[in-house]
Amino acid sequence: MSSILEKYNLKHVINASGRMTALGVSTPLPEVEETVCFGLNHYFEMKDLVNKSGEYIARLLDVENAVVVSSASAGIAQSVAAMIVRGNAYRLEHLHAHAHDVPTEIVIPKGHNVNYGAPVGTMINLGGGRIVEAGWSNECSAAQLGAAINANTAAILYIKSHHCVQKSMLTVEDAAAVAKAHNVPLIVDAAAEEDLRLYYQQGADLVIYSGAKAIEGPTSGLVLGKHEYVEWVKQQTAGIGRAMKVGKEGILGLTHAIELYLERQQESGTAMVEKMAPFINGLNALPGIQSRVVWDSAGRDIARAEVSFDADVFGLSAKDAVTKLQNGNPAVYCRAYKANEGSIEFDVRSVSQEQLQQVLAAMTELNQE
Ligand SMILES: *Cc1c(COP(=O)(O)O)cnc(C)c1O
Repeated sequence: MSSILEKYNLKHVINASGRMTALGVSTPLPEVEETVCFGLNHYFEMKDLVNKSGEYIARLLDVENAVVVSSASAGIAQSVAAMIVRGNAYRLEHLHAHAHDVPTEIVIPKGHNVNYGAPVGTMINLGGGRIVEAGWSNECSAAQLGAAINANTAAILYIKSHHCVQKSMLTVEDAAAVAKAHNVPLIVDAAAEEDLRLYYQQGADLVIYSGAKAIEGPTSGLVLGKHEYVEWVKQQTAGIGRAMKVGKEGILGLTHAIELYLERQQESGTAMVEKMAPFINGLNALPGIQSRVVWDSAGRDIARAEVSFDADVFGLSAKDAVTKLQNGNPAVYCRAYKANEGSIEFDVRSVSQEQLQQVLAAMTELNQE
């Protein structure tokens, strides 16, 4: 299929950055691809497909109810809308057209008010919610979360993500206790997380996942949780959900991807360490470069190769190296969140040994320029 790259003049991309939307997230297994094709090639009674695939996923995950949506972002917007509309037919059809005499505030720890590629606040607004921050940039306790809740609170939103401030932050379980004490629902955005049961078990009312990240499904999202709340999310199909419609291929593809995800042994962090060892040794042979294994800051079982630059010795800063790697052919993408501090990370989950050699060659070339 390299003819497609030629036809549209696109570059080969090596994705050493993880499940990045900017690069197309992931490449689903052939079995998922087949299911997507089956979905594309048949008609269904869509309501039946939504309900029965949701029931199937709910049984797999031992949760009350589930629904496939078009993305985790759509899941956030529709979950917020669900907690404002709460099944009311008039509010469903006039979500943004009128002010409603019901709670619309979404309370979120301030350190969770992140930009994951789009601001989480934009998704809240899309769902008709108004964002209320609890705590401070560097801390949010259960008491601080509780203090932000009032009669206008529609829900609490907790973002479980490496994007968020991690220190002095309450846990999902803490947030669930606060939600229960104040009788408001708790929505957890776990878009890139790997455990599809944990946050529900910890007391979240709705949990949202991105279909193509850990699950490696087609572009899609998953919302699971309490029966009635999920039904309210489904109802948004006749509201804002229409602007974020998921197709039959996405519904079937993600459902199958979830099943395969639960069955297969995940590549462990230890296996990633082994895979990276020659790569890290090669990097350490370059002047001005220090490379070592680091573990995921959000606590997932992911090991990455951290590369620190001594810009004077290497001849290039970490930031400039990121740009040059991206501009190469193949284009090499790494994690550059800490490039301003002089280090980058390579995530090897989607990188073959052959591609690791190519990345090492690209780094060597930078040093010799
Ligand atoms: C990726 C991500 C999202 C968005 O997921 P999409 O499926 O791309 O919409 C939302 N929240 C967090 C924390 C994410 O990492």
